[in-house]
Amino acid sequence: MYTLKEQVPLSRFTTFKIGGPARLLAEPGNLNALRALYRLAHEEGWPVLLIGKGSNMLVGDGGFPGLVILTRALSKAEIKERRIRVQCGVSIPELARMAMKAGLSGLERIGGIPGTIGGGLISNAGSFGQSLGELVEEVEVLVDGEREVLRGKEVYWGYRESSLKGSTVLRASLRLVPGDKIHIEREMALWNRERRRMQPLDRPSAGSVFRNPGGESAGRIIEEAGLKGLRVGDAMVSERHANFIVNMGRAKAKDVTHLISMVKKRVEIAFSITLEEEIVYAGIFEGDEDCIAVRGAIV
Ligand SMILES: Cc1cc2nc3c(=O)[nH]c(=O)nc-3n(C[C@H](O)[C@H](O)[C@H](O)COP(=O)(O)OP(=O)(O)OC[C@H]3O[C@@H](n4cnc5c(N)ncnc54)[C@H](O)[C@@H]3O)c2cc1C
Repeated sequence: MYTLKEQVPLSRFTTFKIGGPARLLAEPGNLNALRALYRLAHEEGWPVLLIGKGSNMLVGDGGFPGLVILTRALSKAEIKERRIRVQCGVSIPELARMAMKAGLSGLERIGGIPGTIGGGLISNAGSFGQSLGELVEEVEVLVDGEREVLRGKEVYWGYRESSLKGSTVLRASLRLVPGDKIHIEREMALWNRERRRMQPLDRPSAGSVFRNPGGESAGRIIEEAGLKGLRVGDAMVSERHANFIVNMGRAKAKDVTHLISMVKKRVEIAFSITLEEEIVYAGIFEGDEDCIAVRGAIV
């Protein structure tokens, strides 16, 4: 049903290409296996970390001292009329392409977000004025080992947050609207071009590092503070988009956290604005070794 691997470097599973080893790692191929892994972790007292595409997280250099579950093989998707039913590991770009081919509109603006449905719903991922949560008709989650089905309307969908945080997204159904295939394809291409123009997609990163404070653009604020190109080791504030930190080669999590604290300090001094991270910290970071807490873990 699943295999447990030991001491697997998590840098292989994050878009930042950063992260120490998972003590244990499993990649369930179906939802029953996922639930069985949760039961096992509970019995053994292991902390659990879910990774979709690892595109919104920074994993510490000390790795993760429990069980990492990769959801990417939970990738079943089916379309019935206007509804798309997907498992949590389905990639958002894949889903957008499926919808386009079926002549369903709704994902054009967000189809370039390089994450999974699970990771995307937890943070209500969005771009160009649209977010994933708006499209949810129903979502099935696991809370403390129990399965629950929620209507989209019962969930709080905020700016890069949702009330699903703390639960495991198993699957969701999204409601889309019929549209003209050619038009949908053109729209998708347009927004993806815009994404390529704005974002440094040629280097590993975890997307926007900070939340936009009070509706202002964190990228613009960081740029105005003169921080583009600021570098610690191989971690650098992108020259193209100042809210991105890019990995120029062999960046460590400690370089990224150091750079993040420099950016926060300088923005605070320049504009009295406190930036908050959008990315999720997971695992053990330098200085954490003596603590019991494991950042980002769902236990
Ligand atoms: C180049 C680039 C561009 C990006 N552009 C955007 C953008 O325009 N808009 C935007 O919103 N984001 C953007 N992001 C960030 C990221 O792609 C999204 O947040 C995405 O939704 C994260 O999905 P993921 O599967 O990679 O999550 P992961 O990074 O794997 O996980 C993120 C969090 O979700 C949890 N998680 C993962 N799967 C599940 C699950 N099934 N159930 C419960 N919890 C789960 C993880 O444990 C972790 O806490 C960008 C990232 C990159 C690298």
